[in-house]
Amino acid sequence: MQMKEYIEEAEKALLHTYNRYQVVLEKGEGVYLYDTEGKKYLDFVSGIAVFALGYGNREYNDALKEQIDKIIHTSNYYYNVPAIEAAKKLKEASGMDRVFFTNSGAEAVEGVIKAARKYAYLKDGKTDHEIIAMNHSFHGRTMGALSVTGNPHYREAFEPMIGNIRFADLNDFDSVLANVNEKTCAVILETVQGEGGLYPAEEDFLRKIRKLCDERDILMILDEIQCGMGRTGYLYAWQKFGIKPDMMTTAKALACGVPAGAFLMTEKVGQNSLKAGDHGTTYGGNPLACAAICKVFDIYEKEHILEHAREAGAYLEEALDALAEEFDVIETRRGAGLMQGLVCKEPVAGIIAKAMEKGLILINAGSNIIRFVPALIISKEHIDEMTGILRECLSER
Ligand SMILES: *Cc1c(COP(=O)(O)O)cnc(C)c1O
Repeated sequence: MQMKEYIEEAEKALLHTYNRYQVVLEKGEGVYLYDTEGKKYLDFVSGIAVFALGYGNREYNDALKEQIDKIIHTSNYYYNVPAIEAAKKLKEASGMDRVFFTNSGAEAVEGVIKAARKYAYLKDGKTDHEIIAMNHSFHGRTMGALSVTGNPHYREAFEPMIGNIRFADLNDFDSVLANVNEKTCAVILETVQGEGGLYPAEEDFLRKIRKLCDERDILMILDEIQCGMGRTGYLYAWQKFGIKPDMMTTAKALACGVPAGAFLMTEKVGQNSLKAGDHGTTYGGNPLACAAICKVFDIYEKEHILEHAREAGAYLEEALDALAEEFDVIETRRGAGLMQGLVCKEPVAGIIAKAMEKGLILINAGSNIIRFVPALIISKEHIDEMTGILRECLSER
């Protein structure tokens, strides 16, 4: 079938929840993607911060094939070896104590909301606890995750949300403080905001929240679904500051493409929140997903992915700063490591479409920001290739 026909078929069958780019992707190799007509694209999206190891990593693919031949799914009523190993690796790498595996980011967020409410409930038996979330945040599309997502436009048609959520501003501690009361059970934020505009949380802000939470026994929850798994050059972005949350979420690059997420907590929260019967999942933590997670951690270590991401991130930052200097339409660059945005003075859809024509895949964050979340194995040469194409697109607009 021709690409155009595939797209026509898709538009007849799939629910129209996305305005998709007019391309059918078929295979990938390293940081390049190919459509069904063989056109090659340099990929700076990696499935939205998912495919950290690049496409077609032999060792990763072989590990999955091997697991498929053993067993794909069991159920959480039984133990399985890949889940035991994946939990151990996650614990060690994050310094957290307890892991619950999910199938997606949003489900991990649902989990921390439930755990936070249960933690507070066990303290005072009340059911009116509040959670403070951030404006411009993004935590997912399910009802709980949407309720803490700070974008009224995403929420409006689906009201009422789950109750008792208050919104503060990222990096404005006074706005957090103004929302705290005796009902507050948790503060949730992304360590680096992704969809909301590539805003990193500042160290001072995180420290103040940590202190506030310690003083009042409020749970500090960091959503590391996009900024985690090495994207900022640290396995989890909060590790840069040595500020440990009480709970955190991870997904996207966790299993590098096999749907998997997790929420993690300290022993204190683990002992005083969700108990047998309180939470569950059919698929979460299944052997296939966990074999993928295990192999991702192995490869990160063996191939020094974090060190590489740190270096490549610094190079990307410089390259984007140079573009911002050169082109008036760019207001500023913002982000951390290999999670960057070029904030423009106008909508960027046209620039992204032009890049696509020229064989470069980019994505937006909001209407005015071009987002860069490539595979963590991206090289300086790839970054040069990307800026070369983007420079052409910006000159021709
Ligand atoms: C993508 C994302 C989510 C939602 O993850 P899904 O797997 O799409 O449910 C939640 N939080 C953040 C910060 C994300 O970037």
